[in-house]
Amino acid sequence: MLDFLNPIKGFGVTFRQMFRKVDTVEYPEEKKPTAPRFHGRHQLNRWPDGLEKCIGCELCAWACPADAIYVEGGSNTPDERYSPGERYGAVYQINYLRCILCGLCVEACPTRALTMTNDYELADDSRENLIWTKEQLLAPLSRGMEAPPHPMRLGESEEDYYRQGPAFAAQVTQAAAESDDEPAGGAR
Ligand code: SF4
Ligand code: SF4
Repeated sequence: MLDFLNPIKGFGVTFRQMFRKVDTVEYPEEKKPTAPRFHGRHQLNRWPDGLEKCIGCELCAWACPADAIYVEGGSNTPDERYSPGERYGAVYQINYLRCILCGLCVEACPTRALTMTNDYELADDSRENLIWTKEQLLAPLSRGMEAPPHPMRLGESEEDYYRQGPAFAAQVTQAAAESDDEPAGGAR
């Protein structure tokens, strides 16, 4: 083909492209949902009565290849209980300046206290703000949950708590939902 037609062919490519569907996403106005198993920021989970699942064992910190997690365990007392076991995570921090969101900490956690959400909006212009504390990482209180410290509400023995507790919590949640549906003015 003649050389002088090459520029015209080039413009043809550009012209064709003008009618194709655009892949660009206008972030942050438009946000595309992530894949369901996307590794976003972490969350510290709770039992159905609101007690914390973290037992302060530090296994997540030892598993972390980036040395991004700092944990200090504390002991529960009868008057001040944060988790159903003997220990709880008194201090818990994740440094998102270091974290590579690999998920190894989640694999190491023996109680499923630590999981990852799909939340990826972690940018900040302050180094200090990128060290997330336990209060920021803890899951919000859902229906039927009570902010610790408080006694174990799902059974006094460990067996009751871990085996029968979730079923008991489901009953409480259902009863609360039914009472919400009743007309206002009923006894609480
Ligand atoms: S996701 Fe990976 S890098 Fe981030 S805290 Fe967990 S183990 Fe460390
Ligand atoms: S998040 Fe899991 S692994 Fe880490 S300290 Fe708490 S219980 Fe242990």
